[in-house]
Amino acid sequence: RDAAADDPYMMAFVDMRMPPGWDGLKTIEACWSVDPRMQVVICTAFSDYSWDEIRARLGRTDRLLILRKPFDRVEVCQLAAALCEKWRLGRRAENREAELEAKVGERTGQLEQALRKDRLRLDLLESVIDERTRELRHAAMHDKLTGLPNRSMLSDELSHAIAHRHADPSSAFGVMFLDLDDFKLVNDTLGHDAGDELLRQLTARIGNTLDIARQVPDCKRLLAGRLGGDEFVILYEGANVTAATTDLALKLLTAVVLPFDIKGQSARCGASIGIAAGTADYNAVEDILRDADIAMYQAKAGKNRFVIFKPEMHDAVVARVSLTDQIRQGIEAGQFVLHYQPIVSLVDGSLGGFEALVRWNHPDGQLLPPGRFIALAEATGLIRPLGLWILECAIQQLAAWSKAFPNRNVPVAVNLAPAQLGDSRLVPTLLMLIARHGIDPSRLVIEVTEGAISDSDGEGEKILSAIRCTGVRIYIDDFGTGYSSLGRLPRLPVDGIKIDRSFISESGEQRKYAAIINAVINLAGHVGADVVAEGVEQIGQVAMLQALGCERAQGFYFSPALPVDQATACFTQSWCVGAQKRAA
Ligand code: C2E
Ligand code: CA
Ligand code: CA
Repeated sequence: RDAAADDPYMMAFVDMRMPPGWDGLKTIEACWSVDPRMQVVICTAFSDYSWDEIRARLGRTDRLLILRKPFDRVEVCQLAAALCEKWRLGRRAENREAELEAKVGERTGQLEQALRKDRLRLDLLESVIDERTRELRHAAMHDKLTGLPNRSMLSDELSHAIAHRHADPSSAFGVMFLDLDDFKLVNDTLGHDAGDELLRQLTARIGNTLDIARQVPDCKRLLAGRLGGDEFVILYEGANVTAATTDLALKLLTAVVLPFDIKGQSARCGASIGIAAGTADYNAVEDILRDADIAMYQAKAGKNRFVIFKPEMHDAVVARVSLTDQIRQGIEAGQFVLHYQPIVSLVDGSLGGFEALVRWNHPDGQLLPPGRFIALAEATGLIRPLGLWILECAIQQLAAWSKAFPNRNVPVAVNLAPAQLGDSRLVPTLLMLIARHGIDPSRLVIEVTEGAISDSDGEGEKILSAIRCTGVRIYIDDFGTGYSSLGRLPRLPVDGIKIDRSFISESGEQRKYAAIINAVINLAGHVGADVVAEGVEQIGQVAMLQALGCERAQGFYFSPALPVDQATACFTQSWCVGAQKRAA
């Protein structure tokens, strides 16, 4: 039978002596070379080979048995049966082993496959982590809104430029600090989304301007970043710093000043730029940024221009700090006073009210106008304590006049800075002061500018409504200089409008402005709001306002703001509002 065809012999009886040809041993060797699992029983009466010789040739194995002649039939049968069974058991064990091996092989394959999958998953995970890390690193160094380098990255770049300048004196650089003019107005009136959109469009314009400037041979490197809000910084590296940054500043100003189209609405915004050249004196990033900022601040005084930093400018900053201190002390020392500018009826020339305007009795002997300190007080937050004092002082005066002239209804207007509107204590304080001084709240007028009312989140409007609930009246100050449209007027919580003096005093433009004043007066009439014209300086303006139906006005033609005693004298006076001057 063919062992290879898997039909093997289980056992063979082999006689040792098989003449002629092969003897038993040779036969066994031949059998085992075909099928090494075959079991052999050597049948022998007496051996031609000793047992040791047989073992030496065939090896020690359990497949070899010796059967001595003469045979017993039963013995032979039992032997064959036992050996066959042993062979079958052996095969079964082998099969199981093969099965096991196959199973192990299969499992190993599965595991390998799973591992390969895990490996793939790990690779994927790693690449995701890499990408996230890159994103995070980018986010840490860039501004979210504009994608420009942020303060941290700018700071790195500037410190490189400073170090480079120290190592190689020929490597010049300059820093430009750009800040938008009146950006707050855009934010307050058009909303924060519009403000964000404007900043994005501005970023694109800065990018285009820088692209052009990079083509100048002097320029080695140009980088723009955003510090926050509407503050941008530009780093120039290359030759001829002053000429190059001046040229760039002019290009930037031209680019910024064009109107922005924000969702169909047009918004304009200038910029102020400060420039500091990177001299060897600079060791720290803050120092050069501070100087560019100081120059920018100087530029702000004129708006929409640039200024190059000079060391003397430090003095101006020091002066500001000192002025801030003086304001603080001045509030405590009671150095501020209120003057009152009469508001006159254009119908009969009688006293129609007062506007309280603050003045500062400065220790050096000067009487300073608010233009010298209000903006700084607003910027430093000192406007809150100062504003509170102004409010109480004006209410106290109103109470005194109400008592002295009980039959006259002469309201007093107080200016409120936008920062005061954000003060949660404002309304309770107002209520407390009204009660303390026993005034009729309808005789108190609060003047606020358009920006304060039309902020995007409506917070200003809410506070104004709360103020109105106390009975106090609200007027919009400097009307026409902000962004708010006439169309919004009917919905605003206001009782009156003060037409800004720029519409009154520019005589050459009077015809054009007359139409605007006319529109404002008509609209105000429809919604029941008062109108006061500001800055009347000539009788001709009085006549124009009368012709347009404006009933009240204030201005130097009638009187400047006066100290209390002189203002009190106005109760017994009237003004010329027509052909004949009325005497007291
Ligand atoms: P404003 O509220 O528009 O006040 C009117 C300003 O115009 C006053 O200047 C007044 O003296 C001036 N003025 C009045 N009539 C004429 C005129 O015929 N021609 C010209 N050219 N000017 C005239 P003042 O007192 O220097 O105040 C300037 C600004 O300072 C005020 O403008 C107001 O915004 C602010 N201010 C004044 N007092 C206070 C105050 O108590 N609190 C706050 N928050 N701001 C104040
Ligand atoms: Ca005012
Ligand atoms: Ca005004």
